[in-house]
Amino acid sequence: MSKSEVKYYEPPVYLSEPEIKARVRELADRINRDYEGKEVTAICTLKGSVVFYTDLLKFLKVPVVCEFLGMSSYGNHTTSTGEVKVTLDLTEPLIGKHVIIIEDIVDSGLTLSYMLEYLRVKKPSSLKTAALLFKPEALKAKDLKIDYIGFEIPNKFVVGYGLDYAEKFRGLPYIGVIEAY
Ligand code: 5GP
Repeated sequence: MSKSEVKYYEPPVYLSEPEIKARVRELADRINRDYEGKEVTAICTLKGSVVFYTDLLKFLKVPVVCEFLGMSSYGNHTTSTGEVKVTLDLTEPLIGKHVIIIEDIVDSGLTLSYMLEYLRVKKPSSLKTAALLFKPEALKAKDLKIDYIGFEIPNKFVVGYGLDYAEKFRGLPYIGVIEAY
């Protein structure tokens, strides 16, 4: 599909709004149990994770410090090398903090691996990862550990619920598939 055709396209539903909401609540419940009595620094990775992040936040009962991290890949999606540059940095030191990276989707896993490296040197007390979507077939970073996974999905290009195609579809309340991608 060309980028000019995008605005007329209504992606078919892959994960519905209620399915996503139920799963996000389950992930939040697990985080609430795992971090009981602790404060969590939850890092939202921009831009695709914003919708997942804010929905998750609504179900979290543990105290949360919100941080936002912008990283952009040097390659495009298909040629991602995992080499990324920081476009928006954290506001507070992470030393001694319990940190969870909140990711929209893990595809090759190279971006999340890079983020882990970037954050580990800041000496948090603990560092975990949450991803709403995970494509196991696309994974290149074989030693990557994702602690909280929303849905394992096949190797398809998905949009909506924060995820874009050429900056479109982020506001879709569900996750859809771009079939001709
Ligand atoms: P990775 O480094 O794991 O290969 O890819 C990370 C980034 O690629 C994600 O944060 C996301 O921005 C983009 N990406 C990977 N797969 C998809 C997909 O199916 N749909 C969308 N919209 N973006 C994707």
